[in-house]
Amino acid sequence: MAEKIAVVAVDIGGTKIATSIVLFTQSTPQVVPVSKVPTNAAAGGPQVLVTVIQQVLAAQDSAAQQGIELVGVGISSAGVIDPLSGTVTFANEIMPGWTGTKLGLEVQAASGLSTKVLNDVHAHALGEARWGAGRGHASCLVMAVGTGIGGAFVLDGHILRGAHDVAGSIGHVLCAESAGMPCACGRDSHLETVAAGPGIINSYIEFGGSAIQEDGTSINGADIDKRAQAGDSAAQRAEARSGHAIGAVLGSMCNMLDPHAIVLSGSVAQCTQYWHDALAEGFASQAMDPVAHTAILEGALGGDAPLIGAAENFLNFAYAV
Ligand SMILES: [Zn+2]
Repeated sequence: MAEKIAVVAVDIGGTKIATSIVLFTQSTPQVVPVSKVPTNAAAGGPQVLVTVIQQVLAAQDSAAQQGIELVGVGISSAGVIDPLSGTVTFANEIMPGWTGTKLGLEVQAASGLSTKVLNDVHAHALGEARWGAGRGHASCLVMAVGTGIGGAFVLDGHILRGAHDVAGSIGHVLCAESAGMPCACGRDSHLETVAAGPGIINSYIEFGGSAIQEDGTSINGADIDKRAQAGDSAAQRAEARSGHAIGAVLGSMCNMLDPHAIVLSGSVAQCTQYWHDALAEGFASQAMDPVAHTAILEGALGGDAPLIGAAENFLNFAYAV
């Protein structure tokens, strides 16, 4: 193991905390899972912190048993993170009491290992840009579409951080398809409203689809995807509306940033061809000629992306500050 550099990586999401040991060699990092436990966010920030520390200590035990020497801890967390101090500067009501958590310092004190923290969307983007689908491209615009939409612009392994640590919030830009609709952020007419998973469900109902299935359960995104494939026109239109809106915003963003590649990931990016075709159409409607053929790639790392990104950020602090 001497030739490998080993970092504990923790991904703290709203529902689960995944912990792994990431081994870096000359080729693709290897993710060795340690644990996956419920976040139990409702129990409050201090309790979540206790759980995180327990997982890091378990990873240290596991490494010791395998003769692996750890160099530090990389953490990916929901919420707005100050990457210099590793403190959670803002988290929404899904993680009550998480705001203000001195995550980096607390984990460092408990483990004795140097620790770096970054936002989970940034971690995901860094993982994909540096070691996943974007590998080899000097700059990448990474977009994750699931229950929400997040993104990041990564240039030469550095994430565009912004003055308030929220650069890359591509779900919250103006979008023609959602004109006038209220957004979760308190503004309106933003991309996320029509293009993320819940937006697709709302569109499906608006286009005449039924919110309740025959077995009495509420319809979800995967159900709509199956219906689109089976020829349900409301489902096809709902997916197409999401895809077109995302494509148009990505085209606009390419005019602004001119990335070497776009990387798309998240559950919605697994949608049917209706979504992908509409995305291509929306993109073509906005991208200027020089950027019209920008590569649009599918994420390659899946759930490992934020773990690899967090470990990468530990080794090579990923913010241009
Ligand atoms: Zn918004």
